[in-house]
Amino acid sequence: MKILISSCLLGCNCRYDGNTQKQNELHKLIKNNYVIPFCPEQAGGLSTPRKPCELLNGKVINNIGEDMTNMLLKGANETLKICKLYNIEHAILKSKSPSCGYGLIYDGTFSKTLIEGNGITAKLLSNNGIKIFSELNYTDLLIK
Ligand code: SF4
Repeated sequence: MKILISSCLLGCNCRYDGNTQKQNELHKLIKNNYVIPFCPEQAGGLSTPRKPCELLNGKVINNIGEDMTNMLLKGANETLKICKLYNIEHAILKSKSPSCGYGLIYDGTFSKTLIEGNGITAKLLSNNGIKIFSELNYTDLLIK
């Protein structure tokens, strides 16, 4: 199975704070799959480290109030381009991120408050038929 995976879940230091979110169990379970690591925010042109971003009223803002929507949209489109190029039908994306989060994201107040919603990339991929999982439920995909 071909799976696009958020690079930070695989150990890349691409998070806004320059750190990773490496998931050791995920690393073990994906070894028999064809994996494409990808970071939408870096693909959208954001630097690492960078200011944290959250979604608010359909826009992406960072914690000093700058509008980053266009860069995150660019990253989402780049991610979809890769999925189409490689016929990828499944993605494992980092939860809660304004790009990769699926189902729950932060509410735009930078207070760690979660609300229902999808990150920009997760939403675009889902709208194009790609099944989205996260580091919280990837075993539903990998263990049958
Ligand atoms: S955009 Fe996605 S892959 Fe990149 S650091 Fe954020 S959560 Fe990880």
